[in-house]
Amino acid sequence: MKPPICCICHRGFDPDKEGGLVWFAKRTSDIEWDRWIEETGDTGHPPYADWYCAAHIEQAHSLSHLTIDAAFARLGLT
Ligand SMILES: [Zn+2]
Repeated sequence: MKPPICCICHRGFDPDKEGGLVWFAKRTSDIEWDRWIEETGDTGHPPYADWYCAAHIEQAHSLSHLTIDAAFARLGLT
């Protein structure tokens, strides 16, 4: 898992106190990633999840029905 740094403002934060991980809709490649993790027992940061600070988590949550690519485009992150 990546360290908790907001992917909008790039500020590090403590997820026990604010913000958190937002999970987006899975793309085909994300389903394949899940399968690979399950089969290999490997760990890693899910490609369809990212950290958001308290200031940005609501905005990210409102886009979590989209894939992470589509959400990033809406957030102007691409
Ligand atoms: Zn932020």
